[in-house]
Amino acid sequence: MSYLEPAPIKDKENPLESMMQRFDKAVSLLGISEEMYYILKVPRQQVIVGLPVTMDNGSLRVFEGYRVVHSNILGPSKGGIRFDPGVNLDEVRALAAWMTWKCAVVDIPYGGAKGGVACNPREMSAGEIERLVRAYTVSMLDVFGPDRDIPAPDMGTGPREMAWLMDEYSKAKGMTVNGVVTGKPLVLGGSLGRTEATGRGVTSAALAAMDKLRLNPYRATAAIQGFGNVGSYAAALMHERGVSVVAISDISGGYHNANGIDIEAAMKYRNAHEGTLEGFPNAEKITNEELLSLPVDVLVPAAKEDVITVDNAASIQAKLIVEGANGPTSASADDIINQKGIVVVPDILANAGGVTVSYFEWVQNRIGYKWTLDRINRRSDRAMKDAFDRVYAASQQYKVSMRIAAYIVAIRKVAETYKFRGGY
Ligand code: GLU
Repeated sequence: MSYLEPAPIKDKENPLESMMQRFDKAVSLLGISEEMYYILKVPRQQVIVGLPVTMDNGSLRVFEGYRVVHSNILGPSKGGIRFDPGVNLDEVRALAAWMTWKCAVVDIPYGGAKGGVACNPREMSAGEIERLVRAYTVSMLDVFGPDRDIPAPDMGTGPREMAWLMDEYSKAKGMTVNGVVTGKPLVLGGSLGRTEATGRGVTSAALAAMDKLRLNPYRATAAIQGFGNVGSYAAALMHERGVSVVAISDISGGYHNANGIDIEAAMKYRNAHEGTLEGFPNAEKITNEELLSLPVDVLVPAAKEDVITVDNAASIQAKLIVEGANGPTSASADDIINQKGIVVVPDILANAGGVTVSYFEWVQNRIGYKWTLDRINRRSDRAMKDAFDRVYAASQQYKVSMRIAAYIVAIRKVAETYKFRGGY
């Protein structure tokens, strides 16, 4: 029997620290009481489980799994499940809090949560992953629920895993409960538009910001880090709106072509090559690090947290950063970026399109009806535009960055709701 040690908690550039620094700053500007500070800061529930899974070779392996419910003040908690070797409690706590602020920024009636398992799905068979998802679901039967806590995909998970989760939960309840999870395959009550929703929202946020900066999309260039569910759709949709995407990347490295990358060809290439861009032709090979400092107008970090730090922030040349990933910029890099006059559309606003369409999926499951793609796109575009305007207005009012403004909008909403209802 072997035990996969969860990654050690990093003391430097920890995402929880980064989240808390911005939270503290926004709270001090809002003048919130100390009591309210702790109500908003301390997670409601933190669950850690050991998950024994039989591997294909007959051995038993124990994985460590987490679910952190940060808040249920605005409604049932919502947030994805991450399968990655680096998952640890601090990371999940930061990601759970970000979900609370994200849902509040886009004005959907959800609190925030996040889950994760320290594992490497790339090295596991479909059967091993299925057994892990089912074990995790059974361990979380008292946490999950369509009116309590609603998971979704995140890094390393997708519709396939959500289907297993729904099935295992339904088995325990003795009936099909499709509203317990979002990001499901279409045939199981998934929503049209959910797969591309985060990338689509990133694109609307980028276009809204470009409009404020008077950057013409047809003359603008972009570099996009990460070619997963967020980065690849953001690249495709930005390209569709006229932006020349000159660099993309994934774990195999970066690919640069000053004349623009053919994004459709890159997606086809990735799908035909076991999900990686390794060997993608017609582009110069660069590193993920080099991609960040390219002379482009728009930079979209859409891979993972803490990629823009004090060590490389000074070398960024983009005029605009649109955060497709959660927490790609560490708090210590914020000042350098602000001093350079770079505008940042922060994660909790820029990547909120995903959870917005998750909300639409849940609404459709509850009313037992399917909306058209056109209706979903119209509603999510409107939600993103309204959220952008709210955050932009707060940044003008408080004379702060869009990041701190997004926290102000979110914290103000959750604190006001708490004042009316109290907390059970
Ligand atoms: N994991 C995604 C996020 O970080 C989606 C969460 C959801 O749809 O609930 O926003």
